[in-house]
Amino acid sequence: MNTEFKPKIVVFCCNWCSYAASDAAGVARRKMKPYFNVIRVMCTGRIDPLFILQAFILGADGVMIAGCHPGECHYQKGNLDAHRRVNFLRAVLGQAGLGDRLEMHFIAAGEPNKFQVEVNRFVEKIQSLGPSPLKGKNKKPLEEPTKRQTLLGALTFIFNTTGAKPESWSPASEEEMIEGFGSPVYDPDKCLGCGACMRLCPEEVIRFDEVDGTQVISHFYSNCITCRKCEENCPYEAVKVEKGFELQSFLQRKAIKDLDMKLRQCSVCGRYFAPECLLDDIKKKEELEFLPSEIFEICPDCKRTQLAGHFKKIFNLEPLGIT
Ligand code: SF4
Ligand code: SF4
Repeated sequence: MNTEFKPKIVVFCCNWCSYAASDAAGVARRKMKPYFNVIRVMCTGRIDPLFILQAFILGADGVMIAGCHPGECHYQKGNLDAHRRVNFLRAVLGQAGLGDRLEMHFIAAGEPNKFQVEVNRFVEKIQSLGPSPLKGKNKKPLEEPTKRQTLLGALTFIFNTTGAKPESWSPASEEEMIEGFGSPVYDPDKCLGCGACMRLCPEEVIRFDEVDGTQVISHFYSNCITCRKCEENCPYEAVKVEKGFELQSFLQRKAIKDLDMKLRQCSVCGRYFAPECLLDDIKKKEELEFLPSEIFEICPDCKRTQLAGHFKKIFNLEPLGIT
C-alpha cells in the first residue's frame, strides 16, 4: 500500500502566462505529482492575501502563486504587487511556522518545463514538511463584517492554532510592504483635541475617552486603512498618517494611547467639557475678543440654560405658556 503523504496544494495561476504553461505541460503529458489544484485568476495581482490565508485555514498544506515574469504582466505590475504580498505573508506566516509552505514563481506561457519542475519540487517539499498544523481545524472560511476584520481574524486564528507567539516585526523594505496599513501619528505640540479627526474617521480608529478630568486620545492600529481623512481635515495640522505595518500592534486588539490633555471643568455644573488648550486657543482669536472670558468656563448645556433665562427676562413669554 502506498503510504505516501498526499498533501493538498493550491496553485494560483495567472491566465496569461502560468496557466498557459500548466495547460501546455498537461497537453505534453509531462509527469507531475497529482496533489495540486490549479486556480486560474486573470492576474496574480488579483490574489488578495486573504485568498492565501483562507486556503491555509481550510486545510491547504501548501500554496503556490505562479505569474508572468517581471515586465511581462498584462496589467503592468500585478505580478510585482503579488510578489510583495507573498513576501509579506511569508514573513508573517514564517512566525507561525508556515512560511515555507508559500511560494511564488514567475513562469511564462512558453515554460511548461519550468511549471512541471517547480510544481514537482514544491509538492516534494510539502511532503517532506508533512501536514499543515492548521489541517482539519476549520471547515469554513472565516468571515467577518469587513475585509480588515477578516484578515485580523485569520491571522489570530493561525497564531492561536499553531501556538506561536507573534514577535514584533515590520517589513524591512518596499519588497515586502503591503498596501493599506499604517496609523495616525499625533504631534503633541499641535494637537488641541478638537475631535475633528475622530469624528471624520470612517473606520472608528480614533478614540476619545474622558479619564479623571483628562481627554485621552488613542487609536486602534489594526483598523486604520490609511485613507488620510484625519490628516486632511485637522485644522491644526497636528496629525499625520504614517504608512507601515507592525505585526504585534496589528494583532493586539486594544487601543494604543497617543496623547492626553487636561479638560476644563464647567464653573456651573462641574462637568468636564472641553480641552483647556482648545478653549484657550479659541479665546485668543481676535474676532472673539469681545466675548467675556467667563463664557469659556461654562459648558454648552449650562450656556444654553443661561441663554434661555436671559430670553425669558427680555421677552414676555408667559402667553406662550413658557415660564
Ligand atoms: S483634528 Fe487635529 S487638533 Fe483636532 S484632535 Fe485631531 S489631531 Fe488634534
Ligand atoms: S487614516 Fe483614515 S482610517 Fe486611519 S485614522 Fe485617519 S481617518 Fe481613520
